[in-house]
Amino acid sequence: MVKSQLENRGISDRRVLKAMLEVPRHLFVPASLVGEAYADRPLPIGEEQTISQPYIVALSLEHLDVSPESRVFEVGTGSGYQTALLAYLAKDVYTIERIEGLLELAKGRLHALGIQNVRFCLGDGSKGWEDAAPFDRIVLSACSKEVPKALIGQLAPLGRMVLPLGQGRSQWLTLVTKGATGKVYVKPTVPCVFVPLIADEGDS
Ligand code: SAH
Repeated sequence: MVKSQLENRGISDRRVLKAMLEVPRHLFVPASLVGEAYADRPLPIGEEQTISQPYIVALSLEHLDVSPESRVFEVGTGSGYQTALLAYLAKDVYTIERIEGLLELAKGRLHALGIQNVRFCLGDGSKGWEDAAPFDRIVLSACSKEVPKALIGQLAPLGRMVLPLGQGRSQWLTLVTKGATGKVYVKPTVPCVFVPLIADEGDS
């Protein structure tokens, strides 16, 4: 997977490649799909959600440029696969998921792997995690029509955010950066397909 799907397509960040060699993806898919865990595509994880394609996870992490000192906020824990990679790359990880069954499964998998630098929350990540903010890095695994305002507010100066932006089949994996003075830059990178970000009613 790492050589043929990632390195051969231009993923070059050594830390990301190493993390993807270390974290056993087959522990994050349903038992019936273990044989396909390293396939070049997303897979269903129940509740109409998917574990993202390995290449898209690697690309998101490369754009995110996580350092061993980073405090990271992840929206959409899902299977917990990307969470485990972030735990390997960053200092502290805060992850939020709106579907309780998925969150509990992910928690169990990370605990079984002995991962201790992750905090979990059940809820709507489009509002952020105010008590733990600001974050050096923010990554979303679900597609939003616009960059959620609360998340821009919770991104530290010089911070980076990676998210799928758009709707339906018109989605772009997008890099949002914040300058030292707080100015925000938005740069679409590659087309992508993610499940939608579901914000609680009444939110913008
Ligand atoms: N990185 C995960 C992706 C899971 S799919 C993986 O590879 O397994 C995206 C997840 O985002 C789904 O589990 C979905 O329930 C969750 N999600 C969607 N909207 C959300 C929101 N507003 N807050 C938190 N999680 C959300």
